[in-house]
Amino acid sequence: MDQSLLTNIQVVLVEPQHPGNIGAVARAMKNMGLSRLVLVNPPENFRGQEAVRMALNGADILEKAQTFSSLEAAIAPMGLVIGTSCRPGKERFPVYTPREIVPRVLATARTNRVALVFGPERSGLCNEHLDLCHLLVRIPSSEAFPSLNLAQAVMVLCYELYAACAQESIPPASCMVPADTVQVEQMYADLQDFLLQIGFLDPQNPQRIMRALRRLFGRAGLTSREVSILRGIIRQVRWYSERGHQTATRSRDLGTERLPPVETTAEDAKG
Ligand code: SAH
Repeated sequence: MDQSLLTNIQVVLVEPQHPGNIGAVARAMKNMGLSRLVLVNPPENFRGQEAVRMALNGADILEKAQTFSSLEAAIAPMGLVIGTSCRPGKERFPVYTPREIVPRVLATARTNRVALVFGPERSGLCNEHLDLCHLLVRIPSSEAFPSLNLAQAVMVLCYELYAACAQESIPPASCMVPADTVQVEQMYADLQDFLLQIGFLDPQNPQRIMRALRRLFGRAGLTSREVSILRGIIRQVRWYSERGHQTATRSRDLGTERLPPVETTAEDAKG
């Protein structure tokens, strides 16, 4: 069985509260062949007795866990970020089951790093955290009490990934390079500024539409080149509206170059 892909998949716990849960997460990861644990603002004693007791043979994962002070920093180099929630609101759709998401996670993990993001025990991931995720997963569970224990939720996702690897049902690598989170966030910032400028977004609540766009692009799985093209289009439209249609037409008639879009070659813009 080829487990090497699992090393490209990391579990990110955002503001976990209980060291015992963090230890239990390390154990679940060890059981299922994952090894990279990332903690965003963990409690001080996250490597203490309680955590080590719950981690058992996963103590090495706890020992090597990386810590960050923001989710944004923790996921910066990731090609795919999967958020988890037991109660997605109406703006958070579509939501996948763990089994549905596995092919995309493993295909991406062949060439890139993937983050599985889990929220704090008390409140779960907030909207700002969920906005940073490309896709959302909900573990089907009883309506009477849908919220799983943090480590058990981690276990369900890790199990599905391990089982797919064990069955050798790993999709082939995609030849496309996913954009990393930093590039994608820069694009959203450009897009939001631009859509505010043209009056498309409600300045009181720009996130309503921005969230829908994030879901759309998250589903599409943008490549680095596609992000450059989209940013180039935004820049070109801005330039066109500021400098006037005439200038653009004249430069085309004269066969002169258009404004080169940001980080985009002329070839990219045509393609
Ligand atoms: N009390 C919170 C639940 C937090 S449980 C609430 O009501 O939202 C801690 C974390 O475990 C969640 O943030 C999520 O990452 C994960 N989790 C728990 N149940 C889940 C489920 N059914 N599907 C997906 N993730 C779940």
